[in-house]
Amino acid sequence: MSRTSTVIAGNWKMYKTTCEAKTFVESLAPLIKKSQATVYLAVPFTAIDQTVQVVKELGAPITIGAQNMNDAAEGAFTGEIAARMLKDVGAGFVILGHSERRQIFNETSAFINKKVKRALKDSLQPILCIGETLAQHESGETESVLKGQLQGSLEGVTSEELSKMIIAYEPVWAIGTGKVAHPDDAEKAHAFVRSVLAEAWGKEVADHIVIQYGGSVKPENAVDLIRQPNIDGLLVGGASLSADTFSKIINGLLA
Ligand code: PEP
Repeated sequence: MSRTSTVIAGNWKMYKTTCEAKTFVESLAPLIKKSQATVYLAVPFTAIDQTVQVVKELGAPITIGAQNMNDAAEGAFTGEIAARMLKDVGAGFVILGHSERRQIFNETSAFINKKVKRALKDSLQPILCIGETLAQHESGETESVLKGQLQGSLEGVTSEELSKMIIAYEPVWAIGTGKVAHPDDAEKAHAFVRSVLAEAWGKEVADHIVIQYGGSVKPENAVDLIRQPNIDGLLVGGASLSADTFSKIINGLLA
């Protein structure tokens, strides 16, 4: 397996106004100037446009993206947002299938599959999130859940399309709980995800696809996670809200 690039993505969830987003990017940019990592930031819809402009003005190596989208090209879907609207304001990627979408908004893998296909069609890179709940983890169902989510969310996706995507393994019990997965356990799950991808889409794509870990990543645990051979990046929620903390993760520094 050859690691293409370490991709560190921040997921702001429903936090930060446009003004707060601007201040954040202005603070983060100088802190990560020397970083080798690829940096993504999934901001609220309302902040995409301005954040993209600030990143451009500063020449900062940060790709701005969204946290969700609808599967339709356009239409009478009150309150929804389309991939081409996100592209229009400069989004480069979209998080799909986050456990908060699956659990709070009842999104199924079949629905997420439609969004993945739409994003690919409209040239928006999907970060597909998968992960088991605490109950599934404790009853030894992790691998079957991950396999089911991959098969369901990626049905009909070609190897070429998959090669444009990122997969994020996010154990639900680790998200926002402070309980990070042990690096050995995360590595085992990542290796399993890669083996499922290799079996269905071929070794070539599976070897090169970025598989991120997400769930209570902090500067203190990021280094041990990223050292694992099958962990190619991190998806960071809470710790991406502070430019200082996020930069420490990106730069691989211990707090
Ligand atoms: C997330 O929202 O994807 C996430 C991993 O959150 P946190 O880092 O806060 O656990």
